[in-house]
Amino acid sequence: MDFTIPEDLRMMQETIRRFVEKDLEPISRQVEEEGTIPEGIVQKMRELGLFGLPIPEEYGGLGLGALGEILVYEELTKTNACFRSRIGTSNGIGSVGILMDGTEEQKQKYLPRIASGEWTACFALSEPEAGSDAANIKTEAVLDGDHWVLNGMKHFITNGDIAHVFTTMAVTDKSKGSRGGITAFIVEKDMPGFSVGTIEKKMGLRGSNSSELIFDNCMAPKENVIGGDDMIGQGFKTAMRVLDKGRLTMGACALGASQKLLDMCIEYAKQRVQFGKPIGQFQMVQAMLADMATEIYAARQMLYNAAWLRDQGKRITREAAMVKLFCTEMGSRIADKAIQIFGGMGYMKELPVEMFYRDMRLYRIFEGTSEIMRVVIARNLLKE
Ligand SMILES: Cc1cc2nc3c(=O)[nH]c(=O)nc-3n(C[C@H](O)[C@H](O)[C@H](O)COP(=O)(O)OP(=O)(O)OC[C@H]3O[C@@H](n4cnc5c(N)ncnc54)[C@H](O)[C@@H]3O)c2cc1C
Repeated sequence: MDFTIPEDLRMMQETIRRFVEKDLEPISRQVEEEGTIPEGIVQKMRELGLFGLPIPEEYGGLGLGALGEILVYEELTKTNACFRSRIGTSNGIGSVGILMDGTEEQKQKYLPRIASGEWTACFALSEPEAGSDAANIKTEAVLDGDHWVLNGMKHFITNGDIAHVFTTMAVTDKSKGSRGGITAFIVEKDMPGFSVGTIEKKMGLRGSNSSELIFDNCMAPKENVIGGDDMIGQGFKTAMRVLDKGRLTMGACALGASQKLLDMCIEYAKQRVQFGKPIGQFQMVQAMLADMATEIYAARQMLYNAAWLRDQGKRITREAAMVKLFCTEMGSRIADKAIQIFGGMGYMKELPVEMFYRDMRLYRIFEGTSEIMRVVIARNLLKE
C-alpha cells in the first residue's frame, strides 16, 4: 500500500493552496457581502485551468483523475465555498453527462469551451415536485420535426443565472418513467423559449446563485440529445451516473472546510485566555479538538481511498455514497464544535466561522440528501 500523493498532484495542490491564500481568502468577506465573485478572480481561475479539471487534455482540460480533482476541491473549500461552486458545476454535474455519454460532435463542440471557462455548464434536474424523487420530473420534451420542444420548469439550479450550457432532464415518454422515459438534453441559454426565472434567496453560499429555469416551448435541436438518438429515454441513467461522480466532490468540500475550521480552532484555543489560561488547556476544549481531528483523519482516508478506487476503474457507487454521507455529516459536527470553541465570537459575522457553519449545512442536502445516501448504501448492500 502506498499512501503517498503523486508528485505532480502534490505540486498542483500547492498551487491551489497559494491561490486560496493569496487571491481568494483576502476577498472572501467582500464576496460574502456583495454576493458576487469579481471577474478578475474568475479570469485567474480560467488561467489555472480550474474550469476543466476532469475534462481530457484533447478537449482542453487538465485531464485529472478523481484523486487529483478532490485534492483541488479540498484546498479550494478552505475559504468561502462559493469559489468552488463557481467552477463546480462546469467540472462536475454540468459537463460530466456530455463527457460520459455525449457524442464526439457534442464533446468537440462543448467541452473545450467549458474547459476554458468561456462557457459555464450547469445541471438541471430538480423541480418543485421532484427533488429526492428525481424520476418524478414533469418537464416534458416533444419531438417536432428537427427540434425537441421543452416545456416545464426547474428550480434550485446552481449557476443557472450565469450558465451557457444546461444539461437538462426532460420526460420524453411518460409511460416509461425513469426506465426509458427520461432524456438528457443540452440546452443553450440563447435557444428560443429558454429563460432564467427567480434567483432564490438562500441561507448561505452567497456569491453562488441558484435559480429557476423556465422552458416555454424551448426549441432544442434534435442533435442536442446527449449521446444522440440511441440515448433517447436513457437520460435518467446519465443523471444518476453524473450524481454518482459528484459525491466524492461533496466529500472533498466538506473535508476542506472541516480542516480549515479545525486549524482556526487550534489557533484560537492557543490564544483565547479565560480563567487565566488559554482555553486549549481545558480538557473539554481539548476533547472537542481531538474529536474533530480524529473524524477529519477518518474522512480523508475514506475519501482518498474511494477516489483511488475510482481511478483504478472500479465502480464505486456504494463507496461514493458512504463518502458523501460520512464527510458531510462530519462537516456539520465539526462546524458545530467550531462555533462552540469560538464561543460568542463564533456566532458573530466578524469571523468566518458562522459562514462555514451555514455553507457546510448545504452539503448534506444537495446532490442527494444524507437519507438518500443511506438508501443507496443499504440498497447496494442488500443487492449483494
Ligand atoms: C443551494 C442548492 C443548490 C442546488 N443545486 C442544484 C443543481 O444545480 N441542479 C439540480 O438539479 N438540483 C440542485 N439542487 C436540488 C437538490 O439536489 C435537492 O434540493 C435535493 O436533492 C433534495 O431535494 P428536495 O430539496 O426536493 O428535498 P425532498 O426530496 O423534498 O426531501 C425532504 C426531506 O425528505 C427526505 N426524503 C425524501 N425522500 C426520502 C426517502 N425515500 N427516504 C428517506 N428520506 C427521504 C429527504 O432526505 C429530506 O430530508 C440544489 C439545492 C440547493 C439547496
